[in-house]
Amino acid sequence: MNPEINIIIPLYNEEKVFPILKKRIIELLDKSKFSIIVILVDDGSTDGTSLLMRELSKEDERFSSVILSRNFGHQSALTAAMTLVNASEAVMIIDGDLQDPPELLEDLFILYKEGYDVVYAVRESRKEGFFKVIFYKLFYRILQKIASIDIPLDSGDFSLLSRRVVDIINTMPEESRYLRGMRSWIGFKQIGFKYSRPDRQAGKTQYTLRQLLKLAMNGIFNFSEFPIKFITFLGASTMSVSIIYFLITLVKKFTIGYVPDGFTAIIFLIILFGGVQLISIGIIGEYLIRVFFQVKKRPLFIIKEFIIDKKDIKNNDFNSKQF
Ligand code: UDP
Ligand code: MG
Repeated sequence: MNPEINIIIPLYNEEKVFPILKKRIIELLDKSKFSIIVILVDDGSTDGTSLLMRELSKEDERFSSVILSRNFGHQSALTAAMTLVNASEAVMIIDGDLQDPPELLEDLFILYKEGYDVVYAVRESRKEGFFKVIFYKLFYRILQKIASIDIPLDSGDFSLLSRRVVDIINTMPEESRYLRGMRSWIGFKQIGFKYSRPDRQAGKTQYTLRQLLKLAMNGIFNFSEFPIKFITFLGASTMSVSIIYFLITLVKKFTIGYVPDGFTAIIFLIILFGGVQLISIGIIGEYLIRVFFQVKKRPLFIIKEFIIDKKDIKNNDFNSKQF
């Protein structure tokens, strides 16, 4: 029998929070009226996470685990988990640090039953560092302004998706994945569910600043043509300015006679436009990098090991899901 719901959780070096996660999820499973299978993905942890996952999956058949061959990053770990779902109804995506309270499942499911294929959680408030909160707020607002699709404000990957939405995402072979954007792009009926985001329950953030920036850049460069359009705009504006400047000089020459302009202005302009050109090449490069990796068609993740009771998942051919 397929479960009604899958909960998918990517984990990277989360041994500190694991016992709390396990307790909270088991409590949820015990009192839930749904049949649920939890899919845990170890994203190449170097601590005891995979050991704890292994134990849990062996002792409780409601937990399936897979171990990736190395750290592929949060979005790839989620992608791996999404290819493994076998739920008949819906899939809930949460972080392992309990910043996305699993207990909200029931609330999200009610909205799903009302006919929403995507129920995404919206952070009404968040208990994180000052700069991180500002960065997130600003980023989501800029992205919403420039993205070619409507990506809702303050929503992360925490969501409940209908099985068909997950199946559709699984057919999207994008290399640089920004799942919350892909989720919006799909369409269907979508709705936000407001919650206040707690701080992580133990351990420390596994997202490095570099990974966070990469995610933000993926959001912008995968869902917006604005940066490249802006270059054209910049080129056109500077050309207009130079034509106007040329006309003014001509007028000056024929009226008050020739007045030589300052040397500093020339140096300044050379440096300014040198900078503008380098930034422009960089922006084009950002798109090119994504094309480069996309044409290579490398697998998005590699599964090293399945820790799953195969009899429970006979309706899902796991091995063929290894991209
Ligand atoms: N994570 C992952 N791979 C990574 C980084 C993070 O699977 O390379 C997982 C992590 O274990 C957690 C979730 O992604 O379950 C969110 O990460 P984290 O809480 O560190 O991010 P933050 O909430 O600080 O943005
Ligand atoms: Mg977190």
